[in-house]
Amino acid sequence: MALIVQKYGGTSVGDPERIMNVAKRVVDTKRDGNQVVVVVSAMGGQTDKLINLAKEISKNPSDRELDMLVSTGEQISVALLAMAIHELGEDAISLTGAQVGIMTDDVHTKARILDIKPDKMQEQLALNKVVIVAGFQGINIQQDITTLGRGGSDTTAVALAAVLKADMCEIYTDVDGVYTADPRIVPNARKLKEITHEEMLEMASLGAKVLMSRSVEFANKYNVPLCVRSSFNRSEGTYIVKETNVMEQPVIRGVTADTSEAKVTLLHLPDQPGIAAKLFNLVAKYNINIDMIIQNVSEHGYTDISFTVNKNDVPKIKSILADLTQEVSARAINVNEDIAKISVVGIGMRSHSGVASKMFNLLAQAGINISMISTSEIKISCVIREGEAKQAVKVLHEGFELDKE
Ligand code: ADP
Ligand code: ASP
Ligand code: MG
Repeated sequence: MALIVQKYGGTSVGDPERIMNVAKRVVDTKRDGNQVVVVVSAMGGQTDKLINLAKEISKNPSDRELDMLVSTGEQISVALLAMAIHELGEDAISLTGAQVGIMTDDVHTKARILDIKPDKMQEQLALNKVVIVAGFQGINIQQDITTLGRGGSDTTAVALAAVLKADMCEIYTDVDGVYTADPRIVPNARKLKEITHEEMLEMASLGAKVLMSRSVEFANKYNVPLCVRSSFNRSEGTYIVKETNVMEQPVIRGVTADTSEAKVTLLHLPDQPGIAAKLFNLVAKYNINIDMIIQNVSEHGYTDISFTVNKNDVPKIKSILADLTQEVSARAINVNEDIAKISVVGIGMRSHSGVASKMFNLLAQAGINISMISTSEIKISCVIREGEAKQAVKVLHEGFELDKE
């Protein structure tokens, strides 16, 4: 008997009819002779609705209370799915993150899973039940509810699959699998049969929200067999694997766009040892993740530093940097939210040169200006204006011929 973890995203459980559809798929899997653990997200749009509700009350709500609020979304969908499975004549039990013992650290709104107890789930599976777990949530050592960051139900699913040593973790969503680019932006994007953990991790961290990047990290670390499939049809999805056939290795596997970041610039900082350390120590103390960093050439003993952060962290950044600006007599802080990070990803880049110049040429031909660049062995990212993001993705997808096999 195989143990399968299935995760259904927000659109897949968006209304009662869709919840019944998910229930049928779960019951089919069970009746095929498998044990099934299901992770579900909040019904589509619910998490955003709850966050907006909080913003109507407070501009800078407490992270603990935000977690208390947004975790309710998943509690609704697990209960409804359990009822739907009961209607189909199978036994099922819904459980919150706390009931399962999903222990996390204290970093509210972006907590990391530290430990999960499999006992309760195993007990219920042994009673022939479908176990339904609320995605996205856990508890910290003080028993406070935490959440794992947007898209966190993917991480819940892979983490459960890891501790349960599941035979497969299936992520069911509203697209058929992982594509060479977001199929909503590039209609002729191609579905990938396979993608390596390394490439999927980059694509996920660079804006391909089909999987949360932490979930890919877990799958890689704990060897969880992972695939992405559609909850609306039976077509074969995409497998996330350790290695793909080297002979068929393309230079570029995919193109992504990330519009969730903002660029923060500190102007006219003294160009002295310790200034960058002071700045980024402060930012790290408040658990704000920094992405790209650029320091300008120093002029007359002064320099500018720019970095990118998640737009959600902008109010926090502004308030924590206000004092520092005064302390080091920097001239000002600029925040530009009108940015997008466009990236090309592929492990084939390791053995090919000229990818960066081709990317810059393609963007230049389209009249798109680049304001920041960063590279790693397997990706190149450019920051451009947000309004040009979709065009840039299309231009790169076509220029690198990703629609072709
Ligand atoms: P869920 O609610 O099921 O978790 P998400 O909205 O988080 O679904 O993720 C699925 C979406 O990811 C798709 O609808 C698609 O628009 C988007 N997406 C972005 N990049 C890609 C890609 N490279 N391949 C597939 N989907 C992608
Ligand atoms: N409901 C959460 C979100 O919208 C978690 C998830 O869907 O994975 O981000
Ligand atoms: Mg998601």
